[in-house]
Amino acid sequence: MTSKTLDHFLQENLEDLKSRGLYNEIDPLQGANGPVITINGKKLVNLSSNNYLGLATDERLKKVAIEAVKEYGVGAGAVRTINGTLDLHVKLEEKLAKFKGTEAAIAYQSGFNCNMAAISAVMDKNDAILSDELNHASIIDGCRLSKAKIIRFGHSDMEDLRAKAKEAKESGQYNKIMIITDGVFSMDGDVCKLPEIVEIAEEFDIMTYVDDAHGSGVLGKGAGTVKHFGLSDKVDFQMGTLSKAIGVVGGYVAGTQNLIDWLKVRSRPFLFSTSLTPADVTACTEALDLIMNSTELQDNMWENSRYLKEELTKLGFDIGNSETPITPVIIGEEQATQDFSKRLYEEGVYAKSIVFPTVPRGTGRVRNMPSAAHTKEMLDQAIAAYEKVGKEMGII
Ligand SMILES: *Cc1c(COP(=O)(O)O)cnc(C)c1O
Repeated sequence: MTSKTLDHFLQENLEDLKSRGLYNEIDPLQGANGPVITINGKKLVNLSSNNYLGLATDERLKKVAIEAVKEYGVGAGAVRTINGTLDLHVKLEEKLAKFKGTEAAIAYQSGFNCNMAAISAVMDKNDAILSDELNHASIIDGCRLSKAKIIRFGHSDMEDLRAKAKEAKESGQYNKIMIITDGVFSMDGDVCKLPEIVEIAEEFDIMTYVDDAHGSGVLGKGAGTVKHFGLSDKVDFQMGTLSKAIGVVGGYVAGTQNLIDWLKVRSRPFLFSTSLTPADVTACTEALDLIMNSTELQDNMWENSRYLKEELTKLGFDIGNSETPITPVIIGEEQATQDFSKRLYEEGVYAKSIVFPTVPRGTGRVRNMPSAAHTKEMLDQAIAAYEKVGKEMGII
């Protein structure tokens, strides 16, 4: 017998979501998450993964991961601080520090986990966090967990940030203050105004934390948004994920040796959750080597995104102001956006719709993530589908 209260709660809320068209049905992939995927037996050009460099299915990564399983097994066996730190983890962290140009780095089991871990290890109820209003959910949750006062500033609004930073500093109410921002914002593909953020932080002696989930492997010749702006020695926390451009799973913070030493004794997911598997860690290390030794994958990704954006613009679509491969096609009205995405699916293209409340009402978009792994033929197929559906629905 299950609890009546729970049954009632679930029934009511699931029905409510379904009646409002907000219940998300998940389509499992039959096979790998590559540039072409199969769902319900149907082959689709995949424009919805964060697998920017195509590394999720890279043969070189697969090979080293298989070797790691043979030598180390499938699990790390414990949390990092008991005996779940393999030499493989140390090697990955050294590589991450080199990749980011910092003294040290610490790896976590996911990017989400990393934000939960790192923010609350440093900030507490006597502190304040200035947070961009469009920051990722994991930042929001990490900030909440810390119990610090959360002060939201308008998206990339530097005047607002300056005013709020000044006010927080001059109030004398807080022991420590931190500014936290996404490096690249995933809904529009715009880049944070890091030089101004660093300037404000220096003026008021405030810490800086950049979540570069969508910038690492993409901007700054792969090293990310902070490197892109030449500010590697000015940002306190360079957080990133190993699940997007790196193609595997995991998260990390790169920073000074002292910061990393502190996180290793104070961040709870590091202390109380089993570490990344040998295969994951080894594949991540290989991915970093590939990115640091050649720009070939990034060059392909940028060329593919340039091509996709150019062709969609030529067709007359509004693709917003993205500065990265993220390519939103703004449709507007919520239902029309969902219908558009559904029609693309029927035409053999997998591109998800993103609507209110994830983005402001009336700015529904179909988001496209071109990668290094797409061929010109795949992109042409997607562009042809966009043209057909766009004309059919009177968008272009
Ligand atoms: C995806 C994402 C994360 C979470 O990373 P995972 O490794 O998938 O847990 C955190 N922050 C931002 C900005 C992201 O886009």
